[in-house]
Amino acid sequence: EYLKRIKKYDKGIKSFISVGEEAAIARARAIDQKMYKGVDLGMMEGIPVGIKDNICTEGMRTTCASRMLEDFIPPYNAGVIDRLRDAGAVVLGKLNMDEFAMGSSNENSAFFPTRNPWDTDRVPGGSSGGSAAAAAAGFAKITYGSDTGGSIRMPASFCGLVGVKPTYGTVSRYGLIAFGSSLDQIGPFARTVEDAAYGLECIQGFDPKDATSIESGYSKDYSESMKTGVKGLRIGIPKEFIGEGINEEVRKSMLDAAAILEKQGAIVEEFSLPITESGLSAYYIISSAEASSNLGRYDGVRFGYRARDFESYSDLVVKSRTEAFGDEVKRRIMMGTYVLSSGYYDAYYKKAMLFRQKVKQLYKTAFEKYDTILSPTVPVLPFKIGEKTSDPLEMYLADILTVNVNIAGIPAISVPSGFSESGLPIGVQFMGDHMSEEKLFRFAWSLE
Ligand code: GLN
Repeated sequence: EYLKRIKKYDKGIKSFISVGEEAAIARARAIDQKMYKGVDLGMMEGIPVGIKDNICTEGMRTTCASRMLEDFIPPYNAGVIDRLRDAGAVVLGKLNMDEFAMGSSNENSAFFPTRNPWDTDRVPGGSSGGSAAAAAAGFAKITYGSDTGGSIRMPASFCGLVGVKPTYGTVSRYGLIAFGSSLDQIGPFARTVEDAAYGLECIQGFDPKDATSIESGYSKDYSESMKTGVKGLRIGIPKEFIGEGINEEVRKSMLDAAAILEKQGAIVEEFSLPITESGLSAYYIISSAEASSNLGRYDGVRFGYRARDFESYSDLVVKSRTEAFGDEVKRRIMMGTYVLSSGYYDAYYKKAMLFRQKVKQLYKTAFEKYDTILSPTVPVLPFKIGEKTSDPLEMYLADILTVNVNIAGIPAISVPSGFSESGLPIGVQFMGDHMSEEKLFRFAWSLE
């Protein structure tokens, strides 16, 4: 049924880069057999899922929406894919994204832009826009994306979905093609909080193949514990997150969400968290620096596309990279190498790292007082395709409310909070202390 639906409707949405029809059907058949035989079923047995195309799937093309990896077929599965398979999920295919996860609209895909199912003239958000559009259009029950600076939460908000960015280190990054390794984290999209909870329960946990993986301290049953509600819990709203530059309807929707939770017994308070603007600068410095290093491996020799005509080794590398990387990726590599170069290192990278410590400290202090910090997820409504492509800075501003979560490594969940008058989805995000996902799910479930 899901494959039929994809065939029929994805022409208008363009969320999939590859659909693995045969493999999905074979797997579904095997699960049927298991059911007839009465074998114990996994928690995701038979559940159709979609995967962002930067998560490696053995035998299934994984492109990062880049010409650089257009023909790359991974010989191994990412950690999360093994977990999903062990739990019985059926992977339907690979989802569109901004090239190497750099972007906020999906327009940086080297192949085609994905459209927002709520209004196909508008972007689904990015960079996991294909994952969001596919879940919103009912092409898969749960989809997975990656969040380096908001790439799960932002498209979740734009497509009326629940999207989870877990605590750094709780979901394996093994087999996730790296963008900013100290920021990247995989997480689920779903139409309900409960499905998102299952989606996370299934993929989290220690993985010895990921050096930053956390060994213990996980809570397991979000889908159960979230039903205890929010009575007596404290919500802090940073006034800097609802000030200038925030769309009026977005602000109102967040205040409505706070009022709903207050009615259920939560205590709501405004406070000051002065990190938005510097956070955005720090994010673009740190993530670009890490990207410039991570993307060094695509030289046409070790990995990726190889130019046809070349005269020397350096000519081969230059030509391969020039031909196969898109503009945004090149921009990030140039920014990254610039901020890391001697003479500029102290002025940019070092400063950003110092600011990173400050962000961590400010959050830590805030979480001594509040169980969650609430804010809008994105300052603007889903915008039109083409509206922001000519001005990269304008595009970067869409991330201003999400990036600090990654800088601090804390978890956050974006949950639908309503619609604009024009019928476009709006979302809010709950941020929490490290490993406080359980609490965040309580807030998300209570709002839903
Ligand atoms: N939009 C942000 C960027 O372009 C975030 C991307 C992400 O989270 N992968 O860097």
